[in-house]
Amino acid sequence: MQISRFTPRRFLPDIIDLTDVDQLAPIFDQLSTKLDAISSVADLEAWLADYSEVSAALGESSSLTYIAMTCQTDDEAKEKAYMHLVEVVDPWLKPRQFALMQKLSMCPFFGQLPEFYSIYRRSVATQVKIYREENVARETAIARLTQQYQKISGSMTVQFDGKEQTLARMGRIQEEPDRARREAAWKTVVERRMQDADKLDDIFDQLLVLRNEIAHAAGFSDFRAYTFANYERFDYTPEDCLRFHEAVEHNVVPLVRELQRERKAKLGVDTLRPWDLAVDPDHNPPLHPFEASTELLEKSHQIFSALDSRLGDYYHVLRLQELVDLDNRKGKAPGGYQSTLSEARVPFIFMNAVGVHRDVETMLHEAGHAFHALASREQPIHAYRSAPIEFCEVASMGMELLAAPFLRMFYSDTDAKRAQRDHLEGIIKFFPWMATVDAFQHWIYTHPGHTRDERKACWLSLMDRFGGIEDWSGFEQARASMWHRQLHIFEIPFYYVEYGIAQLGALQLWQAARRDLPATLDNYLKGLSLGGSRPLPELFQTSGLAFDFTDKTIAPLMRNVKDALLELAS
Ligand SMILES: [Zn+2]
Repeated sequence: MQISRFTPRRFLPDIIDLTDVDQLAPIFDQLSTKLDAISSVADLEAWLADYSEVSAALGESSSLTYIAMTCQTDDEAKEKAYMHLVEVVDPWLKPRQFALMQKLSMCPFFGQLPEFYSIYRRSVATQVKIYREENVARETAIARLTQQYQKISGSMTVQFDGKEQTLARMGRIQEEPDRARREAAWKTVVERRMQDADKLDDIFDQLLVLRNEIAHAAGFSDFRAYTFANYERFDYTPEDCLRFHEAVEHNVVPLVRELQRERKAKLGVDTLRPWDLAVDPDHNPPLHPFEASTELLEKSHQIFSALDSRLGDYYHVLRLQELVDLDNRKGKAPGGYQSTLSEARVPFIFMNAVGVHRDVETMLHEAGHAFHALASREQPIHAYRSAPIEFCEVASMGMELLAAPFLRMFYSDTDAKRAQRDHLEGIIKFFPWMATVDAFQHWIYTHPGHTRDERKACWLSLMDRFGGIEDWSGFEQARASMWHRQLHIFEIPFYYVEYGIAQLGALQLWQAARRDLPATLDNYLKGLSLGGSRPLPELFQTSGLAFDFTDKTIAPLMRNVKDALLELAS
């Protein structure tokens, strides 16, 4: 990795250990004293520049520590450095950062800042408004409970094929052609899950109590209203989400069920069962896009350059500065992510490439996030160099779709079509599940004091409303507690609809690109360059996308997806 600061430091010393709270203390004291002495809007703007510099430097320090740890989890020193950040530095920083925000919001010049700061101002005001000292202990209790959830669900294993296996490994069996084997594996997993179902319901009941208390303490009527404020969802309401669910029910669910009927016919089964949903109905072998990760890097580069020379140049920066760690190797953390080094204002891509199609998807997705970081690097304040998640995922999911027609860099014509078809099918299957998970939480948090049976009944009615045609008979209990496996419901309540909103933006990009690719990429980059400096509807609009989750937007998108699926099948 070869990085240097995007601009020289003006406030922070050039050499300082940002993981040492003794060195950080005088910095925060100075920021606080300076804030007290502000006597004009210009003073305040200068203070915001200083604070932004500190935030960026702290952000980068934390990203670098995290990257180092995930790239080498078997290095004790790196793990220790990361734990020091989580256990010492962050808890030290949080109250100090909040105290500054509180002081900032009371500064007489805060309200007079130019329009440019309006989004930032709105964010600070909300954070200050909903903060309650007494909720800190409740948040800690919640963190403890979600850790228990993680522990219970993460440690589930089963005996299968004569050995102990994780549920993740068992999931792979669902892709195998042997139906009896899939069924046996599926039943084994479901039985294992049922053993802990009561325990997970207990945890959830405790979470509910705490979350309702937090909402009331912060002055909200219920936890849903609190969460909308806490997530800074200023540009859409709970009612918009409910309408989104309806639009999914009317426009997406029928399409998913149609695809399932096709699957049933192809598999030649009388009834589609839950263990028939992941196998490739044409029994194709897995796609094999590349051998070495250098090939993944090179071919991805060709795709981005073919799409737009600016994207090719961005990707060149990643390669030149070695801002990628792609190879799967022993000691590396699983998965893939993109992180931003906020002082150098460059992205970093982490993944575990092994030569499967999923690696290509991850690369295209994370590169979309990386382009976002590069396109918004000129934004003057740190807070504006990242966007709300609803739009960040447009950058990444949109890139997956924009790049899809170029998959022939990796595949034969037939395989490229198959990859695109799987991709589109995956996207439409996601919407009903998203609606189920989201609608469930809307009900939960607006029905305080509900019983477990009522909760179960609500979930089952949503499964009927949004679910597929597969037959669950004999497994009714398992179906009723399917939500236990969606970690968001336990750990990050209500955080899921964002992906649905973003996917609608991504599909609109895909649709626009089929008409005019250069103009679409132009708009895409224009929207990305705004970072988080404008409200969501404006970010969407600048990229040429409607910020709308009703029939009006979804119906034509689904018609186009259906047509494209037909085209790709031929
Ligand atoms: Zn993402």
